[in-house]
Amino acid sequence: MIAMAASEKPHILIGRAKIAVAVKRMAAEIEKDYRGRDLLVMGVLKGAFVFCADLVRLINLPLVVDFIGLSSYHQGQQTSGSIRVTHFPSCSLKGKDVLVVEDIVDTGLTTTFLLGYLKEKGTASVKLCSLTDKPSRRQVPVAIDYLGFTVPERFIVGYGIDYGERFRNLKDICYVEED
Ligand code: 5GP
Repeated sequence: MIAMAASEKPHILIGRAKIAVAVKRMAAEIEKDYRGRDLLVMGVLKGAFVFCADLVRLINLPLVVDFIGLSSYHQGQQTSGSIRVTHFPSCSLKGKDVLVVEDIVDTGLTTTFLLGYLKEKGTASVKLCSLTDKPSRRQVPVAIDYLGFTVPERFIVGYGIDYGERFRNLKDICYVEED
């Protein structure tokens, strides 16, 4: 658990109504693209769990949901640079059309690792859906097929996304700042 200064109160960046509109738009795009195919939705733990839950309930297609746990941020707001799998998918991935559901694409290192991991498992196709994108911090190029919001270079929390495991339960996408 990260100790937090009293001033680190979350401020709303993107409100719940705008989030709902974006999730509906992405679900409609996904539904159109995957009609007639078997879809495996792969939510990335933990940050994408709320987004994934809202998204799949708006996709009117037969689909399977699985989760993979990845860890890249180990110390507060700083990336450690090393990525590890903390929870392995339980479904077989071979031959599957996989839709990765992410919370944030920041440097792009985590997503690049994940897409490589899924391709190595023999998936038929892999597409990427991300709630947010921070292109200003990108270190490796990442193609996002379905995107909610481009966000500024701030540390975001809420709607499933944490800071030291806190704030996942906020209904809005917020940011925290220190003094
Ligand atoms: P990347 O490898 O693209 O730099 O990092 C992606 C992961 O870093 C995200 O899935 C998320 O876990 C974490 N991350 C990046 N930016 C933020 C942020 O603003 N807030 C939080 N809570 N995590 C972030």
